[in-house]
Amino acid sequence: MSTLAGRTALVTGASRGIGKEIALELARQGATVRCVATSAKNCEATVAEITALGGAATGHGANVGDSAAVEELIKEVGAVDILVNNAGITRDTLLMRMSEEDWSAVLQINLTSAFLLAKGLSRPMMKARFGRIINVSSVIGVHGAAGQANYAASKAGLIGLTKSLAKELGSRGITCNAVAPGFISTDMTHELSEEMRTGILERTPLGRLGEPGDIAGVIAFLASDAAGFVTGQVIEVDGGLFV
Ligand code: NAP
Repeated sequence: MSTLAGRTALVTGASRGIGKEIALELARQGATVRCVATSAKNCEATVAEITALGGAATGHGANVGDSAAVEELIKEVGAVDILVNNAGITRDTLLMRMSEEDWSAVLQINLTSAFLLAKGLSRPMMKARFGRIINVSSVIGVHGAAGQANYAASKAGLIGLTKSLAKELGSRGITCNAVAPGFISTDMTHELSEEMRTGILERTPLGRLGEPGDIAGVIAFLASDAAGFVTGQVIEVDGGLFV
């Protein structure tokens, strides 16, 4: 069933990992997808896969942590119905070793990007009296993690942003929710040590790491009309790790 037919979505970090699967799933559901990564070239594979499925997609390059680049991007893509703020980075290290640059880069790319894109793209959503803003947070933003003060702060910030935008934009028909993934098998988690991986699996009731599709399915639901009365929520998708 094409639940998103006629909708246009913008997905950041759509070149690989979770974002690529989100872009593919939204396209499978009928949305036209604007795929964003650090370069348009990096989005070519995602766009090609969507096209091969018979879907519609375009690729765009922008550093989403840079306000001038985001302004250009918004001019390039125009109005969208669905915004998925998924792009993110880690610069993990203990507080005592964390440079201000490590702190700022993570906050800028993971959190400020969502503020910039929501600000720019909610105006046409308000006019249309419809919009879906979905922020990809993390269980680390809810629970914290040693060695990830910058990342945890950025992901907790996304939760505050989500709840505030839900209150501010609800009267205009715009919902804003966050998805907080647990450990998902992507480039970001490939560096986990064997010991950490085993520990996570032991504590996960579902007994496996997540796959990008586990997150994409929840995001497609939040983007759909079926989720029209859901806003300001943080959905942890972690196989039960933090139950
Ligand atoms: P990933 O495989 O490392 O991919 C990161 C994506 O973000 C890439 O598409 C990358 O584009 C893009 N990106 C990075 N910096 C950017 C910038 N400055 N401007 C534009 N795009 C940028 O990451 P992932 O594991 O799929 O994670 C996706 C999101 O889920 C992140 O927000 C992450 O924090 C969150 N998350 C992941 C996990 C997990 O276990 N994997 C768990 C919880 C939350 P390029 O290809 O051009 O570099």
